[in-house]
Amino acid sequence: MSGKPSHEGRGTPPEGTPRVSRAWRPEGTRVRVGRVELGGPGFVVMAGPCAVEGMEQTEQTALAVAAAGAHVLRGGVFKPRTSPYSFQGMGEPGLRVLAEAARKVGLPIVSEVMESTQLPLMEDYVDLLQVGARNMQNFPLLRALGKVRKPVLLKRGLAATVQEWLLAAEYVLDGGNDQVILCERGIRTFETATRNTLDLAAVAVAKLRTHLPVIVDPSHATGEPELIQPMALAAAAAGADGLLIEVHPRPEQALCDGQQALTPERFQQLMRRLPGVLHAVDRHLWRPELPAQVAGAR
Ligand code: PEP
Ligand code: MN
Repeated sequence: MSGKPSHEGRGTPPEGTPRVSRAWRPEGTRVRVGRVELGGPGFVVMAGPCAVEGMEQTEQTALAVAAAGAHVLRGGVFKPRTSPYSFQGMGEPGLRVLAEAARKVGLPIVSEVMESTQLPLMEDYVDLLQVGARNMQNFPLLRALGKVRKPVLLKRGLAATVQEWLLAAEYVLDGGNDQVILCERGIRTFETATRNTLDLAAVAVAKLRTHLPVIVDPSHATGEPELIQPMALAAAAAGADGLLIEVHPRPEQALCDGQQALTPERFQQLMRRLPGVLHAVDRHLWRPELPAQVAGAR
């Protein structure tokens, strides 16, 4: 298969068939983030700090995750915090820091957009626009994202059913943007042993019912470094197309979500274990596809 995004399933689907449904595009949709591609055999790892805090922290993290084999650099500059007194993110200066760090290590960037007025600015810096869990049903934002020419990472809401999550994605596709990646990040349940409850079955359901790539964020789903590796490996085994993981060089000093940040060493260990699990389910860590001629001569 060529590395180009799919162009099947365009036009208007038959009455009653949502645009996100697998029936509408059975071959699946490939989503491009910079030169990286999701939705094919390659498994994509996105990693970096919860929040961009400054040049040194961001560069150190970027270097560490790139060296360990991550494919996309994450980092929030607009942070949706529960308390208005918590660190709200660096804003535009943070985007410049993130872009500079990403350029040095050659990785594309994912970062959260909180409202549509931020889009023109974000589009200049970011390769993948993240919609946070708290914004999953911000319909004006979803409509605006239907009109941009950048891919969208749509996190599942804290208390959203799979159906509500997929209908949120439908808004973006209906607006004309089919480059959508779904992200399961844990939901709120009666269970308090973990920060949220990772719903791995929802990953399998979303893969079955839609043609969109699905990734898992085991950092917010568990809230605890010890639990991130086992859940990341389980996500790979369950058919996810990638991971979104928080990493910080000094978790105890982090301005946001330090309690769940992996150290670079822990992240490296996870990256060493992933290929074995991926191999068992006929997948591999993403790597550039060889030109057809070279692949044929192998
Ligand atoms: C984040 O990725 O840092 C974040 C705020 O995630 P979520 O929206 O899933 O809580
Ligand atoms: Mn976070």
